[in-house]
Amino acid sequence: MTVEISYGAAEVVTGSCHLVKFDDGTKVLVDCGMFQGLDEYKNYEPLGFDPSDIDYLLVTHGHLDHVGRIPLLYKEGFRGTIVATAPTFDVMKVVLLDTAHLMQEDFDTAFKKAQRRGEEESVKEPLYTKADVKDTLRLPRRVVKYGQTIKLSPRIKVRYKDAGHIIGAAFLEIEYKEDGITKHVIFSGDLGNRQVHLNPPPTDPATARAVFVESTYGDRLHKDYDSSVAEFKEAVLKTLKHEGNVLIPSFAIERTQQLLCILNEMYENGELPRSVNVFLDSPMAIRTTRIYEKYRNMLSDYCQNRDHPFAFPNLRFTSTPNASKRINSIKRGNIIIAGSGMCNGGRILHHFKHRIWDARNAVIFVGYQAEGTLGREIIEGAKFIDIYGEKIKINAKIYTINGFSAHADQRELTEWIGKINGLEKIFLIHGEADKQRIFKKHLLQTLHKKVHIVKQGEIIHL
Ligand SMILES: [Zn+2]
Ligand SMILES: [Zn+2]
Repeated sequence: MTVEISYGAAEVVTGSCHLVKFDDGTKVLVDCGMFQGLDEYKNYEPLGFDPSDIDYLLVTHGHLDHVGRIPLLYKEGFRGTIVATAPTFDVMKVVLLDTAHLMQEDFDTAFKKAQRRGEEESVKEPLYTKADVKDTLRLPRRVVKYGQTIKLSPRIKVRYKDAGHIIGAAFLEIEYKEDGITKHVIFSGDLGNRQVHLNPPPTDPATARAVFVESTYGDRLHKDYDSSVAEFKEAVLKTLKHEGNVLIPSFAIERTQQLLCILNEMYENGELPRSVNVFLDSPMAIRTTRIYEKYRNMLSDYCQNRDHPFAFPNLRFTSTPNASKRINSIKRGNIIIAGSGMCNGGRILHHFKHRIWDARNAVIFVGYQAEGTLGREIIEGAKFIDIYGEKIKINAKIYTINGFSAHADQRELTEWIGKINGLEKIFLIHGEADKQRIFKKHLLQTLHKKVHIVKQGEIIHL
């Protein structure tokens, strides 16, 4: 068997795409994600392999950096079978349609501007359209359950197990027979943070000679989750007490549902005044929350023990732009959760425009803010921001709360890898190079196994 990792998530976090070729001729792709941030340009480069050759696409979970290039794969000729859990198929649909919509919007704006300069030829077409996404979603699919083993060929089997990362996320245990010997390899997908109450902790891995493991936070330990929740509650209550409004830029998948759980608990405990309005002002987050509700039986015991973990009387979903605009007329006592998580677009910008200049209000950041985003500018202390060409002063109080990550940290990753029986070699993927070097050193000292940081363009024989 050979694994080719030249196609993404080698010494970077995004663009997950790993091609696995078996001796019996079966070709399998594990994920086909979008490159994001500084690596975005790579989405426009050739895939590097022939998609019409691939028999199966095994999808670990629905995050954009794991599914974002699947419509491209389809456009380039992929007609194989997609394998994923039921919630992953649902999340994937929401993510891909949203992405196609945003790319079309960006294209239309750029095209209009370029037209005025007479340079419309220079504007790149969107990577794919909504119609491409719809065609992609019609490809043959196999829906798998956690713990279920399916056959990919007479000699190859794969088992999906709960990765505890987002709804439906899985790691993959692949079993294959070569030269009369049965071998095992594991792909971790993204592994979850055990401290977060939303998903069950990742399932224990079984036997494997090799593991391809994510290393996003391989260099650090997360802040304690419970104290992060306490910090969050304090920031919310302090703002409301002074007649202010709370603005929370949030990612649609997982982070938003975490926040809804916490706010729900605050409501039930009587901590949140009954007069407070909580608005979920993001169509994508609303759709995702419905998916979490639909598959509630796959969430943690904490969530299953509650009647409605993501709903309480003063929570309102605002789907339409008009409903969103009406929030502006409610002067005080609002908690507004809106996208995008890093403030580089979305409805949160409108709320900034209407409220960030008022010192009674607060913005609570609950997620990572990448370099070059408006969110990063604000947490680094900007005094003014530019929104739709208008200069806005920042008077609102700015809070940054860490500890809500959906990824395992160094200790959790190490413990999980340490549970694999018969492990000979650890391959690090899905991480930044400097963090991977720290993680490699840590693994060598604690687990005493061979560790290899996978390079761009590398072919690994197992
Ligand atoms: Zn993920
Ligand atoms: Zn990822």
